[in-house]
Amino acid sequence: MEEGSGGFANRSLVMLLRRRPMGAALPSTAMGLQDALAFADDDGEEVVLDAEEADTLLALTGGLDAATVSACPQCRSRVLACVALADLLEDAPPHPRANEIRALADDAPTLHVYVQDLKTECTHTKWRDPGAAEWADALDDVLDDPPALR
Ligand SMILES: [Zn+2]
Repeated sequence: MEEGSGGFANRSLVMLLRRRPMGAALPSTAMGLQDALAFADDDGEEVVLDAEEADTLLALTGGLDAATVSACPQCRSRVLACVALADLLEDAPPHPRANEIRALADDAPTLHVYVQDLKTECTHTKWRDPGAAEWADALDDVLDDPPALR
């Protein structure tokens, strides 16, 4: 009766902590429909959450507000402070992906990690502070679909 429910096959991909060498472009097919929120550092290390994981994480952490340095007013993309993020995750109720995100924050080469909202189509034109440029610059190296921000 239900056709086209093959989307579940993507779940296993989403569950993986994807690590890949710098500069290696991720095929767009691997960016499944269910991917909702990507955490990335300046090295291109990345943790991708599906919609449910992203929603729970944001609910458990108060929208990551306490760790947010700068954020797009129109979507969930933001710049997070690593130390504050690690603290926030430590204080928050357990989340299945929290350890991966904490590891990302701990290993990040800079003081910031970058969150990209993969579900909201947003050009971030209203995001106008230095964090926006830093965010776009960092993710430009990571994503094969760089944000349209200049
Ligand atoms: Zn945005």
